[in-house]
Amino acid sequence: MKYIIVGAVAGGASTAARLRRLDEHAEIIIFEKGEYISYANCGLPYYIGDVIKDRNKLFVQTAASFNLRFNIDVRVTTEVLSIDPIAKSIKAIKQSTGEIYEERYDKLILSPGAEPLRPPLPGINSEGIFTLRNVKDTDYIKSYVQQKHIKKAIVIGAGFIGLEMAENFYDLGLHVSIIEMGNQILAPVDFPIAAIVQQHIRSKGVALYLNTAVTGFNKINNKIEVSLNNGVVLTADVVILSIGVRPDTRLAVQAGLKTGTARGIWVNEYLQTSDASIYAVGDAIEFENPITGQSMITYLAGPANKQGRICANNVALGNVQKYHGSINTAIVKVFDITMGTAGTASKHLKTAGINHIVSTTHNGSHAAYYPNAKQMTIQVAFSPTDGRLLSAQVAGYDGVDKRLDILSSYIKQNKTIYDLIEFEHGYAPPYSSAKDPVNMAGFVAENILLERLKIFYWNEVANIKPADVLIDVRRKDEYDAGKIADAINIPVDEIRNRLEEIPKENTIYIYCEAGQRGYLAQRILRQNGFENVYNLSGGYHTWSVATEESGAAIKITKPVAETVEA
Ligand code: FAD
Repeated sequence: MKYIIVGAVAGGASTAARLRRLDEHAEIIIFEKGEYISYANCGLPYYIGDVIKDRNKLFVQTAASFNLRFNIDVRVTTEVLSIDPIAKSIKAIKQSTGEIYEERYDKLILSPGAEPLRPPLPGINSEGIFTLRNVKDTDYIKSYVQQKHIKKAIVIGAGFIGLEMAENFYDLGLHVSIIEMGNQILAPVDFPIAAIVQQHIRSKGVALYLNTAVTGFNKINNKIEVSLNNGVVLTADVVILSIGVRPDTRLAVQAGLKTGTARGIWVNEYLQTSDASIYAVGDAIEFENPITGQSMITYLAGPANKQGRICANNVALGNVQKYHGSINTAIVKVFDITMGTAGTASKHLKTAGINHIVSTTHNGSHAAYYPNAKQMTIQVAFSPTDGRLLSAQVAGYDGVDKRLDILSSYIKQNKTIYDLIEFEHGYAPPYSSAKDPVNMAGFVAENILLERLKIFYWNEVANIKPADVLIDVRRKDEYDAGKIADAINIPVDEIRNRLEEIPKENTIYIYCEAGQRGYLAQRILRQNGFENVYNLSGGYHTWSVATEESGAAIKITKPVAETVEA
């Protein structure tokens, strides 16, 4: 058997290594147009930021070590130009000599990845404007920053890589601005969770421009002027464009392979393309999302690596293992805060027409009495009929990764919010509470599903009518420090003795700081004959952060200090 693999990083290298483990006698050739194979893509921003100091640590394997260990013919700086599916051959160019040659295959595996978007804006090819995809880009950026004594950086696009770059530039001591066209950062997550991270970014002194598009660039001396659609011109020494990627389907399209509705390479459940001898994995493929049923592309290293293993099993052993799709579990560190997401965000569930309920809880990362407990926010979305968990988003400063992975595995296994209630964890005060934040998310979701708790959301406060009653059940000092609209203050511990102050026939909206005291107040009222009582999901905390940020998102900021320098 002769296997050819195109692309030697996440999906390609993983497929090649597994193929060798399954078939010691096969001929395996892996083509990589870049200089390096099997490197840590995900570590590149941290190398630029000097968090990873040793460049060699980025390389999991070299061509030589891969060849030695796996007996794989690794051909770096060799680009596959075309595929002839009838002849079962590829044409490749050796970049060092310009030699073009053919190579036959029995099975071909494509893992060409995705390429960063670079829109045709005026001046976009000026020196100092970079995209970040590979080691070559990384080396350029790093040496540019070191040699040019860079002081100001602009990151365009507030996705995962953009934010990681912003943090790493900041850690190098640069003044950092982030420009984002959308009304929030981190497009895969819902607004209230993004809002928490936005506030953290602002707290670092990083300028964050939302609802702002770049219209062009102008290089003057060593400065890059970045023109915005609001007429403002910012200046920077270096610009990172991180506005998204698209699947690299050039070879597949040229070979006449089927592409799908998401514009990725179409594969079946065995990761086999429309040509039975060609398989594909990674950022270039699209696959049915297990929650929405819609075809989508997943740009993540975990799925690419795991697909590589499945693909090799199917290639070597004959379609023995199905791929079940990705729920896009992802996590990002943004300065001191961590945000994780799994499943389909509420806004995307809405677009897909999937009915769901959203619940937000805030809890300590571990027992409050043990030092350094940090607030953690969990937002879950679940089915109103059977409680199936559809998504989870977690933001906080400690233990976010653990909770995200637990929630992700429940979502992946089609579990419900009832399973969260029964989730059993190892508890000692430094690690958690006797009821883990995951349990708490389940308890609250169950209360909502069983209508023990009726909720309203931060963006529904404006719908409260003059005849309705809005009660702040926090302590007086909390109320005095900031309240919602013209709420009256009846602290939860006083509510049983002040029932006569609350009109029974009116609709009553309650809030506390995080939702828990509001829930208790609601239980007291409802069991005392008050019918229409609603508690604010996520409490004042979610309301204040999301409201503040939605104001910031609508407002187009005209920075004064940041306008072009004379
Ligand atoms: P890649 O790993 O990109 O490999 C594709 C390779 O194919 C490339 O090296 C390319 O040169 C080669 N190639 C393409 N066409 C040809 C051709 N015609 N001939 C020869 N070779 C070809 N994901 C996470 O889950 N977590 C993270 O923290 C994370 N951080 C990231 C940070 C950065 C800076 C980047 C760029 C990506 C990050 N990702 C992260 C995404 C992750 O790296 C990708 O999802 C993953 O690498 C995709 O694997 P792949 O095999 O499809 O493509």
